[in-house]
Amino acid sequence: MSKTPKLMVGNWKMHGSLSANAAFVAGLTAGVSGFACRAALCVPAVYLAQMQALLAATPVALGAQDLSAHDVGAYTGEVSAQMLRDFSVRYAIVGHSERRQYHGETDAQVATKAQRALAAGITPIVCVGESLAEREAGLTESVVKRQLAAVIHANGHCISEIVVAYEPVWAIGTGLTATPEQAQQVHAVLRAQLRAASAHAPRMPILYGGSMNASNVASLLDQADVDGGLVGGASLKGPDFLSMLAVAAR
Ligand code: PEP
Repeated sequence: MSKTPKLMVGNWKMHGSLSANAAFVAGLTAGVSGFACRAALCVPAVYLAQMQALLAATPVALGAQDLSAHDVGAYTGEVSAQMLRDFSVRYAIVGHSERRQYHGETDAQVATKAQRALAAGITPIVCVGESLAEREAGLTESVVKRQLAAVIHANGHCISEIVVAYEPVWAIGTGLTATPEQAQQVHAVLRAQLRAASAHAPRMPILYGGSMNASNVASLLDQADVDGGLVGGASLKGPDFLSMLAVAAR
């Protein structure tokens, strides 16, 4: 197992309300005081100001779920990396499969978003992952390598600043989880690709995401190349997320 502290990131997707968020953080604050953890919550953009204030007194960092591929200008509805920095955003998810699938995001756009994040001092959490059809066709490795290669190509030596999340699309929100062995196999491929791109950089975190929960978190985190988790559904339930953080802090 790696000695690097595990990083656990919650992705709230389009969930939350002012009152629910406040109650969630109150529970989290009481719980996280007992152990050291590296954690972040990626919240809907409209709640960044509220969550910046609520998380300020906790060890939990603030994250966004997306950002614009543009710097500034006439892009209605978009939020730039610099705007996120105004709210002390530390991490931003880029290339989540829901954005690739429902918003047609391409590998090139994801790479540009990672670039924008890095330029603003935000760590991009670059999501890669294959669909069920791609896995069944034996394409898992080539798909994730292609997705990551686009980000490596666009970001040069800055690549050592990114976090990667392996999220098999067939495991997201489905209750199906990659087995620890399946996750490790893909993480090892991604690790080798990152090493080849930045041989002397410190180990870059590779998170697993896809129906990770309080029951399966330990076996996934025990894999040699699994450095943490990107957690959707289970990060909305305070006690579940807390118990996952406790496992990660072992
Ligand atoms: C995600 O949205 O990144 C995710 C992994 O979701 P879930 O944990 O619900 O599968």
